[in-house]
Amino acid sequence: MSRAYNFSAGPAAVPTAVLQQAQAEMLDWHGSGMNVMEMSHRGKEFMSIAAQAEADLRELLAIPANYKVLFLQGGASSQFAMLPLNLLRGKTSADYLNTGEWSKKAISEAKRYCQVNVVATSAAQNFCTIPDQDTWQLNPDAAYLHYTPNETIGGLEFQDIPNASDVPLVADMSSTILSRPLDVAKFGVIYAGAQKNIGPAGMAIVIIREDLIGEALPHTPSMFNYKIHAEAESMYNTPPTYTWYLAGLVFQWLKQQGGLSAMAEINQRKAEALYAAIDQSDFYSNPVDPRYRSWMNVPFTLANSELDDVFLKEAKAAGLLTLKGHRSVGGMRASIYNAMPEEGVQALISFMQDFAQRKA
Ligand SMILES: *Cc1c(COP(=O)(O)O)cnc(C)c1O
Repeated sequence: MSRAYNFSAGPAAVPTAVLQQAQAEMLDWHGSGMNVMEMSHRGKEFMSIAAQAEADLRELLAIPANYKVLFLQGGASSQFAMLPLNLLRGKTSADYLNTGEWSKKAISEAKRYCQVNVVATSAAQNFCTIPDQDTWQLNPDAAYLHYTPNETIGGLEFQDIPNASDVPLVADMSSTILSRPLDVAKFGVIYAGAQKNIGPAGMAIVIIREDLIGEALPHTPSMFNYKIHAEAESMYNTPPTYTWYLAGLVFQWLKQQGGLSAMAEINQRKAEALYAAIDQSDFYSNPVDPRYRSWMNVPFTLANSELDDVFLKEAKAAGLLTLKGHRSVGGMRASIYNAMPEEGVQALISFMQDFAQRKA
């Protein structure tokens, strides 16, 4: 099979140009005689790769100077524990919005360390919408307010940043970071696992306002302490060097595409085209409130679920991979992160229309 269109939710597609560059640099990175994964993380070659990646990420997201950028192991799931361990700062409770599967995981881990106040939930609507902000029960004395801007499984995305007043706003951006411009100054902490819109698995990026660093609970393990990682420039221990390097290649690729405003235009066009194709047919449907449909993860069901298997089989034969929906939702899910070109979405739409015509 030649290179297919891969709609996997994560680990997800990486831009072809990035993989080709990694291939060209596989045996000898820039005359060093080594692959990046063979280098000391403290040598000057890797230090330059790491610094360039951070500088490019800072440029892409216009990250203000009073924020640290950390490149950590443990994926986004470790952040579910690191947040309360580091951010309580003498307080005893934190506010959480519950809008789906990833919110729930963040909440259940935080409960191990603090009192969790669920400020609002759309559980009764099967997580297909977002409760209006004027109904949220915010606690002005909360250590922070946590939310999940894009629910990867449900396909639900906030189109605006919540107003947290003076409480630090914390966002799990694993499946939406870098999909559009972002006002970082509105957040206390932004974190994201790498394997959706950044690069390969094995790393989480944490963007944290400096004044929130330094008051971890006394029993916090060193590896879970933001201060230790910030002071060591994410080199307290061996960082995930190859993932960091590939993330850096992705950041350079994003700059070549015109940065995040250009990506936002493309991502919006991709999502609108796919939702329009779903809405215009009686054969496919998507349950999410149209105001909050995700640009990145598009779940849809077939009118007759007995056709799911043959849909997946024929899609695969047509070079459209990994469309099976999450087991908790069923049906299909097309994840269309930055690395999915518009032609890939058009190919999916054509396939869906043809399939519906033949099977309806
Ligand atoms: C995938 C995902 C996670 C989990 O990431 P890991 O790196 O596997 O820990 C957490 N939150 C969201 C929103 C995700 O999409």
